[in-house]
Amino acid sequence: MKILVINCGSSSLKYQLIDMNDESLLAKGLVERIGIEGARIKHETIGKEKKVIETGIEDHKKALSLVMDSLTNKEYGTIDSLDEISAIGHRVVHGGESFAESVIIDEEVMKAIEENVEIAPLHNPPNIMGIRACQKLLPNVKQVVVFDTAFHQSMPPVSYIYGLPYEYYEKYKVRRYGFHGTSHQYVTNRAAEILNIDPNKVNLVTCHLGNGSSITAVENGKSKDTSMGFTPLEGLVMGTRSGDLDPAILSFIMGKEHLNPEEMTNILNKNSGVLGISGVSSDFRDIEGEAEKGNGRASLALDIFAQRVQKYIGAYLTELDHVDGIVFTAGVGENSPEMREKICQGLKIFGAEIDKEANKVRGEDKIISTDNSKIKLIIIPTNEELMIARETLKLVK
Ligand code: AMP
Repeated sequence: MKILVINCGSSSLKYQLIDMNDESLLAKGLVERIGIEGARIKHETIGKEKKVIETGIEDHKKALSLVMDSLTNKEYGTIDSLDEISAIGHRVVHGGESFAESVIIDEEVMKAIEENVEIAPLHNPPNIMGIRACQKLLPNVKQVVVFDTAFHQSMPPVSYIYGLPYEYYEKYKVRRYGFHGTSHQYVTNRAAEILNIDPNKVNLVTCHLGNGSSITAVENGKSKDTSMGFTPLEGLVMGTRSGDLDPAILSFIMGKEHLNPEEMTNILNKNSGVLGISGVSSDFRDIEGEAEKGNGRASLALDIFAQRVQKYIGAYLTELDHVDGIVFTAGVGENSPEMREKICQGLKIFGAEIDKEANKVRGEDKIISTDNSKIKLIIIPTNEELMIARETLKLVK
């Protein structure tokens, strides 16, 4: 059974075709600059040469029809006919309180996703466009949505209620939701497998450290607390997002710089985090490079990032009765031995001890703690697309 996984952004669309008989990747691709000049599609059938086509792509429907054309192209394509696609799995960012699990799409589900646009105005609209376009192009293929927030719906009120008048939760659903759920769930299942523990009994702190970053306390295989909140802005200092702040700073800066709320939010999302602190880049490779050359602000940005990660790990360890492991995943978590080492230096108080030699790896499943360490430290490359395909298969089977 072949499943197509779609992840739509406002001007981009990522996709993978996965053969669920052996979970092998058959093709992957990216459509960029949808609705903008210079649009293109990059398609790669695994084992064949990559193909890049530059062409006008006015909307998501056109983008998806190009994806279908590429998948079935005689020369560089992947399958003989679209009939080979058994189901489509869509990533949708915000399921609000309506969805604690993935679901097969019908009109009622679409209505609920549309209702959540109010609390996810940046993320849900392109996801909806992608689903609608697939419904038009492949009307007979079952489609499933997998929500980034669903894994965290197991959080108890003590984790998700803010210290605000309770009526704002009741009236406007202002609460903590959490994101990166598909990634936290994937690494949770994989960690249980690696540690040989029942996935419904495993206790972990999972650290998704990428351009966007979040940390989750996992109790008995379920999310108990997570660092992102009402939006993906809360929690860690990230590539371009500020993470936690004193809320009073916002009105102060808005007054000083004559900014409106939208401009302020944009600064918090796009110009802050390690980019804002270092003034170098949002990319950790660039910042690490500059820090090595002696750039003080680049070093400071890395130290702040690591310290915020330590704080959350420390806080979440106190929320668990015991912990089977601390997991590192995503771009930085999987690939930066330096950042992992820096973070783990601050975890000695918990008896966590990193094995510096074992830590010298990138992008592979590996236990990197010493034999004496009281907590297992584990690298697990995330695979959100495979998780979406698995969820899709479970529902359409
Ligand atoms: P993601 O959002 O998961 O794709 O992660 C992107 C981030 O991972 C970027 O900031 C990259 O700089 C970072 N990253 C990727 N490879 C490395 C590496 N080898 N060393 C340090 N950071 C890396």
